[in-house]
Amino acid sequence: MERLLEVDDLQVSFQVRGGEVKAVRGVSFHVDKGEAVGIVGESGCGKSVTAQSIMKLIPTPPAIMRSGSIRFKGEEIIHHNEKQMQKIRGKEMGMIFQDPMTSLNPTLTIGSQIMESLIKHKNMSAKDAKARAVEMLRLVGIPNPDKRLNQYPHEFSGGMRQRAMIAIALACDPSLLIADEPTTALDVTIQAQILRVMKDLQQQMGTSIIMITHDLGVVAELCDRVIVMYAGKVVEEGTIEEIFRNPKHPYTKGLLRSVPSLDQKKDEKLVPILGTPPDLIKPPAGCGFCDRCDMAMKVCKDHDPDFYEVSGTQKARCWLLDPMAQEVKQA
Ligand code: SF4
Ligand code: MG
Repeated sequence: MERLLEVDDLQVSFQVRGGEVKAVRGVSFHVDKGEAVGIVGESGCGKSVTAQSIMKLIPTPPAIMRSGSIRFKGEEIIHHNEKQMQKIRGKEMGMIFQDPMTSLNPTLTIGSQIMESLIKHKNMSAKDAKARAVEMLRLVGIPNPDKRLNQYPHEFSGGMRQRAMIAIALACDPSLLIADEPTTALDVTIQAQILRVMKDLQQQMGTSIIMITHDLGVVAELCDRVIVMYAGKVVEEGTIEEIFRNPKHPYTKGLLRSVPSLDQKKDEKLVPILGTPPDLIKPPAGCGFCDRCDMAMKVCKDHDPDFYEVSGTQKARCWLLDPMAQEVKQA
């Protein structure tokens, strides 16, 4: 498979009163062409910051990029300036957010917002851009696209706005779509429809997707691979199959116990993960999950585990996977 995106040792901090929040602490992952990758974790785990760093949507300062590399289509983009990023954003990378109202322009019709990026990035004539806008609205399942084109965001329902956002994000046929909790604000039925639209478009257009979510159900629906983040780090990575059937990190196991599954028995209880993530102004020296982990050993407190390979595609950052764990435990 062809690599589309390669993130290596990304470190992002935020200067706040009282110190520096180390929001992303050495994150590495890749996305292949045509692949859908989910990044999951609780709020504050660094998943959105990671996504926004890829698109350079976080202002520096207050954010500080400590180190790392972001290669997109083989090109290093981590030091790209705003002008260089503008050529990539919209055209090569599209993004959709949880609340389309914050990213849609309330004063412009939906149609002109789709046309705008086509004219800007694809040098299309107004006529062609309009035809493409109608086609995009049809593709995302908006009925009467010719009429809907002339309406404003407030005339759309929540689900329809999210469809319109997808139409805008995909109009220029970007190689990568980054979706940050795109269905979180929607009810379950609409959520399922939106995920269906994304999946269909991904298959039709060959777009790669990064799906940021706290909901493993969403990931199961859409993604080929999952990256689990906790306290600014990737703690586990694997295919959907591996993560759902054979999770290795206690945090991943906890996440799976805390979301309703489709085949959930009625009397089966969801178990929330107790406790709170560590303060990332003073991140712990050892495993970030230590205070909440039932399996924690002595070694976990002082030493942060490295990745252990479970298979060619699965790896997890946990001392339990160390063959010497029992001895280390005694040390
Ligand atoms: Fe739990 Fe230790 Fe594994 Fe961290 S390294 S998840 S504390 S067992
Ligand atoms: Mg977020």
